[in-house]
Amino acid sequence: MAKLYIYNTLTRKKEEFKPLGSEVGIYTCGPTVYDYAHIGNFRTYVFEDVLIRTLRYLGYKVKHVMNITDVGHLTTDDEFSGEDKMLVAARRERKSPWEIAKFYTEAFKRDMRSLNISEPTILAPATEHIQDMIEFIKRIERNGYAYMISLGLFLDTSKIPNYGILARLDLSKLKPGARLPVHPEKRNPWDFALWLKAPPEHIMQWDSPWGRGYPGWHIECSAISTKYLGEVFDIHCGGVDHIPVHHTNEIAQSQAAYGKIPANYWMHGEFLVIGDRRMGKSEGNIYTVEDLKKMGFTPLALRYFYFTAHYRTKLNFTLEALRGAQNALEKIYQHLRELPEPTGMPERYLNKFKQALCDDLNMPRVLAIVWEVIKDDSLSGGEKRALLEEFDKVLGLGFVSQKKVEVPDWVRELLTKREQLRRERRYAEADAIRERLRKEGWEVQDTPDGPRVRYVKVT
Ligand SMILES: [Zn+2]
Repeated sequence: MAKLYIYNTLTRKKEEFKPLGSEVGIYTCGPTVYDYAHIGNFRTYVFEDVLIRTLRYLGYKVKHVMNITDVGHLTTDDEFSGEDKMLVAARRERKSPWEIAKFYTEAFKRDMRSLNISEPTILAPATEHIQDMIEFIKRIERNGYAYMISLGLFLDTSKIPNYGILARLDLSKLKPGARLPVHPEKRNPWDFALWLKAPPEHIMQWDSPWGRGYPGWHIECSAISTKYLGEVFDIHCGGVDHIPVHHTNEIAQSQAAYGKIPANYWMHGEFLVIGDRRMGKSEGNIYTVEDLKKMGFTPLALRYFYFTAHYRTKLNFTLEALRGAQNALEKIYQHLRELPEPTGMPERYLNKFKQALCDDLNMPRVLAIVWEVIKDDSLSGGEKRALLEEFDKVLGLGFVSQKKVEVPDWVRELLTKREQLRRERRYAEADAIRERLRKEGWEVQDTPDGPRVRYVKVT
């Protein structure tokens, strides 16, 4: 098996991946379902999909667990000054929080499918794992890491060895309350809620040893990952914005419950940016997959666009760049429609491809290899198709569905008729035939050797 090197945020190094067992356990933080996920979020999900596809391509068995955050959390992360996001959405759309969660979960799954993101082995809604969270919190409490205040149960971060190790937080230099107000009952400014008491108007609430309420923001990932992947698993992924708070606190919870950092490798996808601002709901500069579809873009063009930058570098989104990606992808499809059935694969290209993947998922390099193959005249059509279809196991750009298109008889007949009309100088009628063919997806090009026709319709 080829050696895979991945960048581990925990050590700030590219490391050789060594799995714990025969099945690789991966946990990825899922969406919050009170609104549509935007294409900045999907950049991270596509990066994670490439990681999972690469592992499977290299021969690993993978168990992938993703949570769905369908519990209402506050619009701020200080646990007392914000509003419940799920409730805000419920009011906005005149639906119950449960209906909101169901609606946006379905929308998320639809977008995942349209971007050709492999389905997680387990997709775990937080609301179906409340009991697991309660058990996890009880363990933290038993170990003496929790304390009760009027808001609910909190984790005492001063008891955690190296709190902030993932983000390399220097607590002595952080100013408490600089970003958010600190509740006066908290022992340390970075302490966070494990369980929050709910006011009566809070619709989503459950019974617990700490009163009726709802779980803190971070506990669902700890409880769900431990339940399905064990106390320590292989890889934990998310967006870079998760490093300083969410993943830092997941680590603290696992240390408090089990004395262990829950994953060996922590991988993070960089932001999609517009100009110098990240794409985000709070920035008010978001696009959804649906928005792009309405503008005539295909979701797979977006997937191709993501691959134009390495996952650890910021990617600047513009509609022009996306259009460029769509044109490039369509050109690849056109090549594929002219290629015969696959034959053998030349080793040298296969090796190049694997090398690029194994070098911390270098997708821009993989795209460059795709174009090298297309332009390499020393390869036969069958070899080209074989390579492209092989690469597509990781790329997931729909190459396999782009089969060679034989020109049907009705198209040939129309072409012959058009030639006849042109000889008779009946150009208007000839043009009408050309237009009719174009509408059916057939593009006619007049060359010195006569007309050529090719299928250009995006499928
Ligand atoms: Zn998480």
